[in-house]
Amino acid sequence: SLHEFLFGAGFGDRADAEAFVDGATGTAVTFAQLDGMVTRVAAALHERGLRKGDVVALFAPNSPAWVAVFHGVLRANGIVTSANSLYSPTELAHQLTDSGATTLVTVSPFLDRALPAAAQAGLSDADVLTLDPVEGRASLADLLASTAAAPPSEVLPSDTAVLPYSSGTTGLAKGVVLTHRNLVANLLQYTPMGRVDASSRILAVLPFFHIYGMTVMMNHGLHRRATVVTMPRFDLRDFLRVVSEYRVSRLYIAPPVAVALAKHPMVDEFDLSGVEGVFSGAAPLDAELGHAVGRRLDCVVLQGYGMTELSPVSHSMDERRPDDDLGGVGYGLPNVESRLVDPETGLDVGPGERGELWVRGPNVMAGYLNNPAATAATLDADGFLHTGDVATVDERGYFRIVDRVKELIKYKGYQVPPAELEALLLTHTAVADAAVIGVQDAEGEEVPKAFVVVQPGAALTAEDVMAYVAERIAPYKKVRVVEFIDAIPKSASGKILRKDLRAREQTPV
Ligand code: ATP
Ligand code: MG
Repeated sequence: SLHEFLFGAGFGDRADAEAFVDGATGTAVTFAQLDGMVTRVAAALHERGLRKGDVVALFAPNSPAWVAVFHGVLRANGIVTSANSLYSPTELAHQLTDSGATTLVTVSPFLDRALPAAAQAGLSDADVLTLDPVEGRASLADLLASTAAAPPSEVLPSDTAVLPYSSGTTGLAKGVVLTHRNLVANLLQYTPMGRVDASSRILAVLPFFHIYGMTVMMNHGLHRRATVVTMPRFDLRDFLRVVSEYRVSRLYIAPPVAVALAKHPMVDEFDLSGVEGVFSGAAPLDAELGHAVGRRLDCVVLQGYGMTELSPVSHSMDERRPDDDLGGVGYGLPNVESRLVDPETGLDVGPGERGELWVRGPNVMAGYLNNPAATAATLDADGFLHTGDVATVDERGYFRIVDRVKELIKYKGYQVPPAELEALLLTHTAVADAAVIGVQDAEGEEVPKAFVVVQPGAALTAEDVMAYVAERIAPYKKVRVVEFIDAIPKSASGKILRKDLRAREQTPV
């Protein structure tokens, strides 16, 4: 089980070292303390009636307490479904129902959304617990007070461990069934690329509820006996303060944070010299932007690729090959088989040619939850997962993601990847952020439209934007419509929500 893998061998001379530190409050738990908390949470949940395969929903921001409950549920032979902190009561109710959760663990500031959602999903008031103490409600402190014994482990490698939901970037978020084997495999696969050890200090500002935070920050940090500093939400000043104050050495981020690190003047107010490596994932990182971060922080910058369905990492750059171009996502991890397939012919494409990325390996999900049709459309009979992303690979096995198959803009028979235009737009000094979608022009032709956020204090016209792009790109990729906007809609995992921009196009202002 994941628990045996992470906790089974004991912590040796790291037992009294800090495992998780709450960057908001400074509260820390050591490895030995965490181990004890996990055991007591498991015992208390078992005492409350939790049995093998029962689902507990976690709806809370990152904190050491989140980790204790997550691993306590697994230790009690249960399953964790982690919910997006931004969810409305209706969205949360859907996940509770879909996952069959019988217990909901949250925090007091979230109760106004958690309670109606729980009621809607048929949970009783007593099924809702909090991490922080709340008058009249069971909380983590009560679980920790349990003197019962933890139940024996009944978990097999093929049993479900977690039910995270995909980001909902392209549609409704899908429940993903990940087994203990999936999660352990991905830790073993990713570790050689990660270069994290007991001396590392990892910052976890991206949410643990998303698979990136869950595997690459929380469980990877625990596996390597590193110290993980948690933050409940992203705020640039707080983020920089915590990085500086806790001498963070490893940052795991998504591209929006890279934009801030490369461009924001506030970065110069903080001592970030502890940072040795920045790893970016979840969405395309532009090479220029990545290099700018590396120069400003004087550190290594790496990019990786993954998806919830892959537990999540399948490809990553390798720190031992620092000469690689940052515009790619690196090599397949150990035990990952990759194919690039032409969706029209079903045949593998050659080096440098575009194809849909298919992945097979021990980290590939068991399937989508309650959705056999989506599972059948994504996982083929040979065990390859069709990612829906277009990629290229060179002779050395170095991969680049072009964009999602469905996001490619079809302009006069050409395919224009919006991600490439977004990256180019971000290289303009007056552009703070940008997103591109396909819109219909007067002739009914699909053309690229850029939404641009202007850097505070800078002046920029639509003509400037179009000319800047036109000078640097093949004519068919030109941006043909520009709109200035206050902020680009993004998901909690840092992805541009192009579907929201498309919906906005349909709604006359
Ligand atoms: P949904 O499947 O619900 O529409 P989602 O695909 O965004 O949402 P996730 O599982 O969080 O949900 O994200 C996986 C996707 O993120 C990948 O399929 C890919 O499109 C994108 N992605 C991840 N890493 C990278 C990267 N380094 N470069 C480009 N795209 C990336
Ligand atoms: Mg997806």
